[in-house]
Amino acid sequence: MATTSSGAAQKKSSRSSLPKSIASQNAGQPNLEELLAHAPAAIAVLSGPELRCSYVNDMAVRVTGRLSADQLLGKTFREGIPEFEGTGVYEIVEEVARSLRPFVGREYKVPLLQFETGTLTDRYFDFVCQPMLDENGGLQGIFIHAVDLTDRVLIRRALEATQEHLRLAHEAAQVGTWEWDGAANTRVLSPELHEMFGTDPKASDREIEETWASRLHPADKADVFAAMSGASRSGSLEVEYRYQHPLRGERFFYTKGRVVDGGTRLMGVVLDVTDQKNASKLAAEQRERFEFATGAGDIGYWFCDLPFDKLIWDERVKEHFWLAPDADVDIELFYRCIHPDDREMTKRAIEESIANHTNYDVEYRTISLEGKQKWIRATGRTAYDESGRPIRFDGVTQEVTALKQTREALIRSEKLALVGRLATSISHEINNPLEAVINLLYLINQNSTDEMVRAFSESAQQELARVSHIVTHTLRFNRQPHGAEREKLSNLLDSSAAIYTPRMKSLGVEIVRDYGDSQPVLCFGSEIRQVFANLIGNSFDALKPGGRLMLKTRDQANPRTGEPGVLVSIADSGSGMNEETKKRLFEPFFTTKGEKGTGLGLWVSREILRKHRAVLRVRSRQTAGKSGTAFSIWLPMGTPASEGK
Ligand code: ADP
Ligand code: MG
Repeated sequence: MATTSSGAAQKKSSRSSLPKSIASQNAGQPNLEELLAHAPAAIAVLSGPELRCSYVNDMAVRVTGRLSADQLLGKTFREGIPEFEGTGVYEIVEEVARSLRPFVGREYKVPLLQFETGTLTDRYFDFVCQPMLDENGGLQGIFIHAVDLTDRVLIRRALEATQEHLRLAHEAAQVGTWEWDGAANTRVLSPELHEMFGTDPKASDREIEETWASRLHPADKADVFAAMSGASRSGSLEVEYRYQHPLRGERFFYTKGRVVDGGTRLMGVVLDVTDQKNASKLAAEQRERFEFATGAGDIGYWFCDLPFDKLIWDERVKEHFWLAPDADVDIELFYRCIHPDDREMTKRAIEESIANHTNYDVEYRTISLEGKQKWIRATGRTAYDESGRPIRFDGVTQEVTALKQTREALIRSEKLALVGRLATSISHEINNPLEAVINLLYLINQNSTDEMVRAFSESAQQELARVSHIVTHTLRFNRQPHGAEREKLSNLLDSSAAIYTPRMKSLGVEIVRDYGDSQPVLCFGSEIRQVFANLIGNSFDALKPGGRLMLKTRDQANPRTGEPGVLVSIADSGSGMNEETKKRLFEPFFTTKGEKGTGLGLWVSREILRKHRAVLRVRSRQTAGKSGTAFSIWLPMGTPASEGK
């Protein structure tokens, strides 16, 4: 089609005539008309007073979208190309004709009707409107030379649009690009990168570099510079760093680049990964917290696919099972690590939980290769698929050894409290008939002349005195006295020692008294007497014939707080205690006396003294010739703690 129409145009244009001025200028030269016809520009000549088109070349016909030169020849501009109305083209031509001065247009946009398709399309031209003058300087015509730029403009526009899109994309994705010549130390930053760095694109290379370097996080500087200096050697660069942006605060940048065309020039991108970093930092923090929480709670996690083909345990579960962190676990190993006595129970619990859709919650012992044990509590539950088939069995383990011990200790102390209450009620029941029997024996002793009866009743009295002592001083420790009173400790000490007078005589033991307390102390007298009786009783148990018991009291302030009080010491030259005994003497039921001891005396005494805010100290040694034990008790003058009531 195009060839046909251009062929037609060529034929017709050759029939049109050029003004004489042009034709004459080129007389004798190669045919000018031929040249113009093939020129790569649109050429037209307007001549005569009405400026009618007297010549168009082939290109002019084509770019104006006409089908043949006839559509233009002999017509004024307005008639030939009516679609130029409103574009200012007619006015330009009129102005050239009036002023006789040429006009040059650049990338001039005009609509042109494409006759072939019937569409109106925009085209762009660079053009020259040149007046042609006759010998007298009058206007002979106008020479129009126009270069069609449409394709070029459109391509450029498209390119610009693409670049703009890219820029927008970079901006949105916070991506910047850079070029860096390591050898020349020059760099080019994309506008987006200047944005990201908060640097001034107009600043000098050096200023930019200095600004950038000064905003690098100090801890990341070394890494960044190492990556840069390594880049020229390795040909690539990849580094992540923190950057203090003047407006946006701290940002995380990831940059990656590589050498282009084998030289010293590197090209690369910078990504702002702050959001990702913050997200992963948050995740890491949460994980850390989670691990801290589970670590503090000593909780391990386990996951099993059902049926038990795969067991996934974290390090803590493995620790609970005495296994190394990298140990492979299967169901056999699981059962093997559990105490033989607990295996059956555990197996049953798992099966029941899976079958009945109930929570799994058991306590079992795990055993090490050396036979060490841990108490573990395992809890878990089963996950089922839509059809109700069990697919997963997951849960946690927790070491409960310490908890178990505490629980046992609690049970023991509960037992003790029970014993205490029992003892109190028994002693109460025994005491009254006991006193009656002692009185009766006294009467028998007094009223009998039979030596044998007197001797028997005497020893019966002595034995009963022992019973009475146990009942009143050991078993009755739970009795609560009614109120605290002021008591002189030396008096209490004497009355406590008095019970032992018969024993002292039969044993051949000397009691040395050294009383220096002047003030009575506010206390529960019967309880303090019980303490003294317990200590003196222990001394007698430890003493041998010829031994000594020293009872001493002094007014003395608490050496730490300065609080006034009285110091009592009960010291014996008895057997003394070995290390093991010294460590355990206050434990309830600890005794070295076999059937004869209760192991409660010191334990009860310490409780009573604690109630009185007293300070109790023990020194004891078994050195031959210098063996003995000394208990010292400091009691404050003031009110005993109210819990004593
Ligand atoms: P018990 O007297 O019934 O054995 P205690 O609680 O009174 O129970 O004393 C616990 C243990 O402390 C005694 O069995 C004894 O081994 C030791 N002990 C206490 N006081 C003395 C002491 N003065 N000399 C040697 N050992 C003592
Ligand atoms: Mg005792």
